[in-house]
Amino acid sequence: MTSTADKVLIIGGGFSGMAAAIELRRQGIKVDLVEIDPGWRSYGAGISLGGATLRAFRRLGVLDAFMARGAATDNVDICIPTGVKVATLPTPRLAGPDVPGNGGIMRPVLAEILAEATRAAGVAVRLGCTFTRIEQDAHGVDVTFSDGSNGRYDLVIGADGLYSKVRESLFQDAPKPRYTGQGVWRAVLPRPPEVGGAMMWVGDKVKTGLNPVSHDEMYLFVTEDRKENTYVAPSEFLATLKGLLARFPAPLMQQVAAQLDSGSQIVYRPLESLLMPRPWYQGRVVLVGDTVHATTPHMAAGACIGIEDAIVLAEEVGKGGSVADALAHYQERRWERCRMVVENSGRLGEIEIAGGDKEEHGKIMRETMMSLAAPI
Ligand SMILES: Cc1cc2nc3c(=O)[nH]c(=O)nc-3n(C[C@H](O)[C@H](O)[C@H](O)COP(=O)(O)OP(=O)(O)OC[C@H]3O[C@@H](n4cnc5c(N)ncnc54)[C@H](O)[C@@H]3O)c2cc1C
Repeated sequence: MTSTADKVLIIGGGFSGMAAAIELRRQGIKVDLVEIDPGWRSYGAGISLGGATLRAFRRLGVLDAFMARGAATDNVDICIPTGVKVATLPTPRLAGPDVPGNGGIMRPVLAEILAEATRAAGVAVRLGCTFTRIEQDAHGVDVTFSDGSNGRYDLVIGADGLYSKVRESLFQDAPKPRYTGQGVWRAVLPRPPEVGGAMMWVGDKVKTGLNPVSHDEMYLFVTEDRKENTYVAPSEFLATLKGLLARFPAPLMQQVAAQLDSGSQIVYRPLESLLMPRPWYQGRVVLVGDTVHATTPHMAAGACIGIEDAIVLAEEVGKGGSVADALAHYQERRWERCRMVVENSGRLGEIEIAGGDKEEHGKIMRETMMSLAAPI
């Protein structure tokens, strides 16, 4: 493959940045990646992944590692708070007939798998490093780094997440992340035999769910409406989470609640969202992942669309046309799909906050899942 971008810099080593690095190396392009965190850590509990994400893993070459260390199951059971199952959401097998259509894994495990693949692909990774200046002309981008070094690149990819400094420095008019009125609680617990796959219990305004993240572990999530984005002290985590779970008399949920104690690793996160209008690039600097489309987790597709951005961008850059054409085609191929995920996920949150129409909620979930099944 020939490319007019022979040397690329990626700023940010999250799921989107690592995926871009792996895919660009596959095209024979020289890739530098800078990550601000010296420990390259990934926080949080488990992450849920749909069939489209598993399909993207196959493309990245990390599906086997995921299958060995994560969990893949079929369908999502939807229940009412008492535990009665009211629907089963089918999860198409998009990664191949042998791979179930739904998955889960611990975030740090997925980050480790992708980091190993990034290094194995020959990416020059610098940790504890970021940019201090980006200046471009018609032929390239000059970047100064926080360690005092400089580099010139054909293309710079901003993959530094929701609070992106690349976005802030190049797109001053970009919208800011918006608090959506919900927070999510998560915890990791031993997986009892009755949790064969992903399950959700939909209450009036609060929703909870379980998803296996390995053979013997699962993660619990609870989505709660909270008008203001106020600080919640860690000392309140256990009692608040148990209080929310008390609204779900389902025996399995009560068994889960009883397992939570002061030793449980509970995480709380207010939900934020951002959809940056086009353009997603300026000259030779382009944004991917949460920098341009941070979705709430209602469709468990945030990581998916960021990784897909990376695959599509590398494909376009690898075609050998001009950088301008590659970036225009990348944006054209990605906009509608990412908009759909962010806006549909946002609508699901609004329905939950209002205690609104459960039929509309189910319909949006099914339609979004089916749209995500389309090829990228
Ligand atoms: C509560 C919650 C639950 C979620 N659950 C799911 C789920 O179940 N399934 C799913 O698919 N998605 C989920 N998501 C969304 C998903 O986590 C994100 O969409 C995904 O992590 C985005 O990846 P990213 O690489 O684009 O950005 P990030 O993960 O934010 O990565 C950005 C990287 O850039 C680094 N960085 C930041 N600033 C700089 C800088 N100035 N210079 C260099 N490096 C920098 C950061 O350290 C980080 O490594 C959830 C999100 C939230 C908030």
